[in-house]
Amino acid sequence: MNAEAKISVTPTFRAEYGHFIDGAWIGSDGSKVIGLSNPATGQHLANIQAGTPADVGRAVAAAKRAFPAWSRTSFEERQRILLEIAQRLRARSGEFAVMESLNNGKTVHEATIHDLPEAIGQFEYFAGSVWSLKGETHNHADLLGLVHREPLGVVAQIIPWNVPLLMASMKIAPALAAGNTIVLKPSEIVCLTVLEFVAEIADLLPPGVLNVITGYGQDVGEALVTHPDIRKVAFTGSTSTGRKIIEYAARNIIPQTLELGGKSANIICRSADLDAAATTAAIAMVFNKGEVCMAGSRLFVERAVRDAFLEKFVAAVEQIRVGDPLNEKTGLGSLSSRMQYDKVRSYFDVAREEGATILSGGDIATDTGLQSGFFVKPTILTDVHNRMRVAQEEIFGPVTSVITWDSEEELLSQVNDSLYGLAGAVWSEDLRQAHRISRAMQTGIVWINTYYNLPRGMPLGGYKQSGFGRELTWDLLREYTIQKSVIIPL
Ligand code: NAD
Repeated sequence: MNAEAKISVTPTFRAEYGHFIDGAWIGSDGSKVIGLSNPATGQHLANIQAGTPADVGRAVAAAKRAFPAWSRTSFEERQRILLEIAQRLRARSGEFAVMESLNNGKTVHEATIHDLPEAIGQFEYFAGSVWSLKGETHNHADLLGLVHREPLGVVAQIIPWNVPLLMASMKIAPALAAGNTIVLKPSEIVCLTVLEFVAEIADLLPPGVLNVITGYGQDVGEALVTHPDIRKVAFTGSTSTGRKIIEYAARNIIPQTLELGGKSANIICRSADLDAAATTAAIAMVFNKGEVCMAGSRLFVERAVRDAFLEKFVAAVEQIRVGDPLNEKTGLGSLSSRMQYDKVRSYFDVAREEGATILSGGDIATDTGLQSGFFVKPTILTDVHNRMRVAQEEIFGPVTSVITWDSEEELLSQVNDSLYGLAGAVWSEDLRQAHRISRAMQTGIVWINTYYNLPRGMPLGGYKQSGFGRELTWDLLREYTIQKSVIIPL
């Protein structure tokens, strides 16, 4: 381990967090706690509350009380507050990057160059977007029609553990911008940054506008989504939980935004710049340890360039250093939890049983200093066909299945033979071909000759069982509002 490259920022956070309700931190009815820990070392970080439906009830009541006044705040006021939130995050971004790394196992480098700037950017972007919330007028002979766009009320937001601070920002910023009040439930596995962030900005918002309930999904998630005063649910997480959210939402007929799982195809054509494609495919595989809904986990390589590409790809992957997430030179940190570690390792066995070849990795990383964490080697599987479990199921780790293709027709039938449709990429110097393939892919995002680049304001969201609704874009403000038509005879 290179001691000189180790990050020296020491973050400040609490030993224990309550629920944040009505502007104050409170303990739980059930007074049970859940420990947050560092997956790279096993070190305990902080305790959070294991909430109950009664806690949810208190949070929703606070949000409901706060709604009338918040919904009437001026655009100037909402914009000012969102920009102030961005400023508070920026002022402590070094600390938040370390906290995210400590609790999630991701490299502090990734948190610094990606999670923090993107989280700050959400508040700045939606601060600007408030001005796009406009109504309409209609003139019909002797009738004047007005269409108002009104905030919905109290919204429920549920997020996962893989990029918690950014996910929280993606949810909170548009909901506040549109004039709603919030009850947010972060993941019980990783949420240190979310809670410390809320502590940091608590004084900027009137009590009850933003509330946070912690705890297990089955204990508080259902109570939250089915609460009769909730007017919308925005959920990011697995497709299986997403299905339950739809069932819960059906009880009170509330709208949903669902960002769910993925199994994205990264397609290499014979004309591709193989050096760039190989280096980027390695990033598409290991960024955030592969715990990304958009990870390039199916790599479709045209047969004519298979060997040349794989040589470069293996070299790029084998250069990635697995290790201490706080070391700036580390390329792949620790998986986020024991559960995820066991899941990813179980797929190494599935791959062997299905007859795939493990070209690289396929094992835990056991170098000195890594024994107490959930470290696996980046893993390349070949001799995979698209119907194998390793090509169909979301592994959510640094594992890529390589599938060889001959014709575009055969390629596209396999690429689209997936429950999911979140993202994907095409590598080809023939832009007509790249464009043709991108149009035929049943997926919400397609990158051409790049991966993971998403300019601010462009929509993120899935086709098929990757969910519905789009985030990151000003259109989302529409999903946090409802239209009302008012008609006046003249
Ligand atoms: P998960 O579905 O297990 O949990 C997500 C959240 O839902 C957590 O807060 C959890 O406590 C809560 N939850 C669990 N059961 C619940 C229930 N019955 N009712 C209400 N809430 C419940 O997902 P995860 O393992 O935390 O996250 C990984 C998944 O998230 C992957 O499938 C990944 O693809 C997906 N994801 C998608 C996107 C996207 O933008 N599409 C982004 C990030 C992650």
